Amino acid sequence: MSSAVVNLVCRECGRTYPISPTHVCEFCFGPLEVAYDYEQIAARVTRERIQSGPPTLWRYGELLPIERDEARIDLGAGFTPLVPAPRLAAELGLGELYLKNDTVNPTGSFKDRVVAVALSKAREFGMRVASCASTGNLANSVAAHAARAGMEAYVFIPANLERVKVLATAVYGANIVAIDGTYDDVNRLCAEIVSERGDWGFANVNLRPFYSEGSKTLGFEVVEQLGWRYPDHVVVPVASGSQLTRIHRGFEELALAGLMPEPPSVRVSGAQAQGCSPVAQAFEAGRSLVRPVRPSTVAKSLAIGNPADGSYAVDVARATGGAIGAVSDDEILEAIALVARTEGIFVETAGGVTVATLAKLASQGIVRPDETVVAYLSGNGLKTVEAIEQTVDTGTVIRPSIDAFWSLLGAQAR
Ligand SMILES: [Zn+2]
Repeated sequence: MSSAVVNLVCRECGRTYPISPTHVCEFCFGPLEVAYDYEQIAARVTRERIQSGPPTLWRYGELLPIERDEARIDLGAGFTPLVPAPRLAAELGLGELYLKNDTVNPTGSFKDRVVAVALSKAREFGMRVASCASTGNLANSVAAHAARAGMEAYVFIPANLERVKVLATAVYGANIVAIDGTYDDVNRLCAEIVSERGDWGFANVNLRPFYSEGSKTLGFEVVEQLGWRYPDHVVVPVASGSQLTRIHRGFEELALAGLMPEPPSVRVSGAQAQGCSPVAQAFEAGRSLVRPVRPSTVAKSLAIGNPADGSYAVDVARATGGAIGAVSDDEILEAIALVARTEGIFVETAGGVTVATLAKLASQGIVRPDETVVAYLSGNGLKTVEAIEQTVDTGTVIRPSIDAFWSLLGAQAR
């Protein structure tokens, strides 16, 4: 069977490149993206075929850039629950609200989607070393998928990461290189390494065109799980901006592949922390150009001061009638507790950013009660327990006696 993967194409100038581990246009420095032959995809993909596929992102294999099925690395990433959230909706004054619960991915975040695709492609390229520049979740996922695939892993992280994220990477046997600097410093260093070690597969550097494709499955799944219906409005956390733009692209591709009769009219909104909100600032100012910032926020997994796809995220939000909001660290921590208390889902700080921004956009009338709304919860709260240490009640110590218990209960009743 011939592949529907055609080539790489520059998003800015349209120049094409053969499928290879490269991510930047040599002429204009624009980002490269995977181009597909949608007629070929439409001729063989059907809703029934997808629904009879595996309960992972690989059910959408026809719409992903892996050309040989045996190259796929499968830890079970993707096809996570779409959870109705009536109690949270009531608190926020919304109607039909769903949570896309990506906290239950194999390593606890949506990064398993992008890494599964990037490292499968690395295998297709014959690469032996998996690598990445990470704010933590990506490091976890690269280390796990590399272990699964029998590849060596080198992960580069800022030295101030949450302890859990470091340990949950080290356990897979990955080589961890901690950099005394910000994520943006780490990213720059990795770009330099790639220029000398092109045979290493950096998930979010030289494999970035393939890596980004994994996020499209967040769009595919929501439509399938709503019974092949587009949502009206989605709220997506913004770090590099790639998740947001690829979810939107996923909605569009369902129509291009003949799986949906009409193109989407989904409003796409983004969520940032005020301590690192270059994309929200650009949206607010009415410009596409994103001015880099130096991050300072509890939401470390979103702390990218110079986001690669930031301006594209602004464009998508503006073109679809969405917005990009930003929330304070206090609002983030309150939102973590809110979604846990109302819906039983414990999210990491990035999920707190998303829910707090959803609340803000709802109060401003931008997300409306007559819309079918989906909020993307990208990571598990167990990864950032330090963040909520001061905001939750961890109970009272009593003697092991029934009297002590009754008196505690009495004290609480007062
Ligand atoms: Zn170009």
